[in-house]
Formats: sequence, structure tokens, C-alpha cells
Amino acid sequence: MREAGKVVAEALRTCREMARPGVRTLDVNRAVEAIYAKYGAMPLFKGYQIEGIKAPFPAVTCISLNEQVVHGIPGQREIRDGDLVKIDTACKLNGWCADAAVTIMVGEVRPERRRLVEVAQQVLQIAITELPRRRWWSEIAGMMQRHAETSGYSVVEQYVGHGIGRIMHEFPQVPNYCGRDMKKHDFRIEPGIVLAVEPMLNMGRKDTRVLGDHWTVVTKDGMPSAHVEHTLALTEQGVEIITRDPDTNETPVPLITESKP
Ligand code: MG
Repeated sequence: MREAGKVVAEALRTCREMARPGVRTLDVNRAVEAIYAKYGAMPLFKGYQIEGIKAPFPAVTCISLNEQVVHGIPGQREIRDGDLVKIDTACKLNGWCADAAVTIMVGEVRPERRRLVEVAQQVLQIAITELPRRRWWSEIAGMMQRHAETSGYSVVEQYVGHGIGRIMHEFPQVPNYCGRDMKKHDFRIEPGIVLAVEPMLNMGRKDTRVLGDHWTVVTKDGMPSAHVEHTLALTEQGVEIITRDPDTNETPVPLITESKP
């Protein structure tokens, strides 16, 4: 999974470099496709089908702008100054999967949008920090939700993270909130677990809808949304960010070996 994670990290690094005003989202997608081809990695989004949805997903990345939450289809649309560009991608290499997403702030981003992205990153950081410290996912999900909500944002509930390994979407479901249904779906956190944790935060209300292209999820109120994701592995030594890019200045997370409270 580390090898697949490195390829996903390189793909997202390329996306960060490419996401400039005037660049079409399909050009960014093509660049990611070329990286997967270079390593012989299998893209996991292209051809993905959801039961009940006729059209398989046509690209190796999901690129969602501004009020688009997730699952945006790359196309002719050009990236503009001030956009929030969310890019999600996953691949399989030598039988193992990795999945990650970033929100790229293009050019002059308004401060309220910038703060939304920063809080989304903090919410993911909470999961990274707390994973070795907690027994149950519901504890972490509750902390993530509280941080988002006390910062003034809502957490999308219709889409959640997932276990990941030999296939992309494995048990368990990994919600970013702690709702009433959490008791049914809660799971123990133990070394060996690998999760794709992917909080989606909305500036306005949490409600989303799907556009007529069958894929693109947007906020119902048209307000901006941020999405970040890492594949995280918990080992006896601590948490490992499988999709971390060593070449970015992303804060390295110290290994936490203290016992659980
Ligand atoms: Mg995912």
C-alpha cells in the first residue's frame, strides 16, 4: 500500500502544480492518467459503477470546483483564480490500493474560503492524531464533527470514508460525524487497520444533491465545500500516512506510542 500511496501522492503533487487559471480540468486528469501509466498502476475511478447509476465514471480523477462537493467529472471547464479545486484519485499497484484527495486554493482565494479549507485540513489532522489514542471510531468522528461545527461549518453526511486494502472500498464505512446510527456502524481501532479518511466540510448547510450527469455532488445551497483525504494505516508503532507526499511541506505527524486513555 505504501507503493500505491507514493504514486497517488505524486499524482496529487502534479495536480497542485498544474491547477492554475486557464487550465482545463480534463488536462489535469490526463496528467494523472499518464503518471499511473508510467508506474503500471491501475486507476480505480475510471469505469467505476454504482448500482442504479447507468454511466460508469469516465476519468481517473474526480475534480470538483467550489460548490461541487465530490465526484466532479473532469472536462472542458477552466480553473479560475479564487477557485477551490478538489481533486480525488486512487490507484492499485501490485494488488494494493491507495486513495487520497486535496483541496487546492488557486490564486487569490477569499479569506472565508481559505479558512474553510484550513479547518477541513485540521479535521483530517484530528483523525491522524487520534487514531492511535482511541478505541472506537465514533470517538474520533465526534471530535472531527465538533471541530468542524464549532468552527462554523457543517459536515457532509451522505458520503463517508472507507476501509481500503486489496480493493478500494472495503468495510468499514468511516463517517466524519457521530450520528445516531453510529452505534450500529461503530468499529474498534486496532493496529493493522487501514482507512481512507475523507472529511467533506460545507460553508453552509450539510445537504447535497447530485447533478444530471449522475455523478457531480453539489451543495444544495450553492455554498463552497472542501474535501481532503488520506489513506491512513495504524501499526503498533503509530499512524502512517500512506498517501503522504514527502516533497510537500505537509506537517509530518509524529508517531504516537503512548497508551490509550
Ligand atoms: Mg475515498
